[in-house]
Amino acid sequence: MNIPDSSNPRVVIIGGGFAGVAVAQKLKNKEFQVVLLDKHNYHNFQPLMYQVATGGLESGSIAYPMRKIIKEHKEAFFRMTLVEQIDTENKKVITDIGTIYYDYLVIATGSTNNYFGNKEIEKNSMVMKTIPEALNIRTLLLENFELALQTNDMNERKALMNFVIVGAGPTGVELAGALAEMKKAVFPKDYPDLDISMMEINLIQGGEKILDAMSKKSSKAAEKFLKDLGVKIHLKTIVTNYDGKRIETKDGLSFDTHAVIWSAGVKGAPIEGMPQALDRASRIRVNEFNQVEGFTDVFALGDVAAMYGDKFQYGHPMMAQPAIQQGNLLAENLERLEKKQSLKKFIYNDKGSMATIGRNKAVVDLPKLHFNGVFAWFVWMFVHLFSLIGFKNKTLVFWSWVYNYFVFDRESRVIIRPYRKNRDIKTTG
Ligand SMILES: Cc1cc2nc3c(=O)[nH]c(=O)nc-3n(C[C@H](O)[C@H](O)[C@H](O)COP(=O)(O)OP(=O)(O)OC[C@H]3O[C@@H](n4cnc5c(N)ncnc54)[C@H](O)[C@@H]3O)c2cc1C
Repeated sequence: MNIPDSSNPRVVIIGGGFAGVAVAQKLKNKEFQVVLLDKHNYHNFQPLMYQVATGGLESGSIAYPMRKIIKEHKEAFFRMTLVEQIDTENKKVITDIGTIYYDYLVIATGSTNNYFGNKEIEKNSMVMKTIPEALNIRTLLLENFELALQTNDMNERKALMNFVIVGAGPTGVELAGALAEMKKAVFPKDYPDLDISMMEINLIQGGEKILDAMSKKSSKAAEKFLKDLGVKIHLKTIVTNYDGKRIETKDGLSFDTHAVIWSAGVKGAPIEGMPQALDRASRIRVNEFNQVEGFTDVFALGDVAAMYGDKFQYGHPMMAQPAIQQGNLLAENLERLEKKQSLKKFIYNDKGSMATIGRNKAVVDLPKLHFNGVFAWFVWMFVHLFSLIGFKNKTLVFWSWVYNYFVFDRESRVIIRPYRKNRDIKTTG
């Protein structure tokens, strides 16, 4: 891998997401050699990915180069590589570009989609965990509209204009809201020769309420916002199959659609080599210092880690804040380990959660206050702008939002590379 030897202990971090980057940043110019490994050469700001999928933002505005993150660090290295295996016995990590030895290992690989074993759904639905996947959704959305124009078969046209989102957590809700906004303000202008009223947005949720990790008040408010925008919400509905053309549910609901977006579940993304420590959501069991059970030099953080406790029976929520806070504390604890001091326990500072539904509409749950509407929307925007890494990205996102707000537009509506997912659609053209 061409990493020089060092007199400092080597910290190998797998994953440059919120957790991994927090550790790397906090270890800047400390007495460690930091080696950051990721299969992508950029940090992805996932909370705004739905805006890339719906043409509101360019992908570059939510991606930040890893090399820039560690640019001014005295002894930090980045390698773009897929990590394949961990060998804790020999303290090494095996990747597709070689092997690297560690003194301390940080596993921060995040999460992956959970289809609960349904191979058909996995094969045919769209997901949004990475930027290329968000761009695939954007392309599919636009291609479906192009195809809808070309066909005279009304059933086919309806299926092409039917967008089904499975899972009404923040991702599903935000995506549904953005699509509904496009139906109202963008598509009628882009496709004047298409009957846009045929477009449907169906949001399917297995539980009794949408945004089920949020307060009842926020959930109700979000439901009303979505319904006002024309989104059809199906609660207590379990999807059983999607063959690429027809989606079916446990209680008999079914409809034709050429776009199913799966946001119904995630599970940890651990790496081969430590299966003994996995919990029921494939997360790695860690103690209150984020040490993987049975190890003092191997840590897991963020989405991939499950720290069971009184308040969080099955681990912390798979959100950015626990990942960042765990990363920050781990950097401090690594220094303490080197100084032979006792480690600090992780205590999650829950700052709340929020989701936006569309123009001027958001819901915010703070620890002691729940509110929604225009003010919540401004809070949502401020928090997301503030959280983006890099001045350039903050500026790009800010100006895109200002432009989109005043022009009622989503300017990134271009099909850069075609996308076909098991497609067999006949058109008249
Ligand atoms: C669409 C979407 C919207 C979201 N919205 C919100 C929100 O509004 N608010 C919120 O708090 N949270 C949100 N989340 C969740 C939040 O993004 C995650 O909880 C957070 O990213 C977890 O951080 P992490 O560092 O654990 O993992 P990640 O940020 O996912 O980073 C994991 C990194 O590991 C790398 N990696 C994985 N496996 C390997 C491997 N084998 N080899 C090399 N590299 C590897 C990946 O490329 C990635 O860069 C959202 C998630 C998604 C998908």
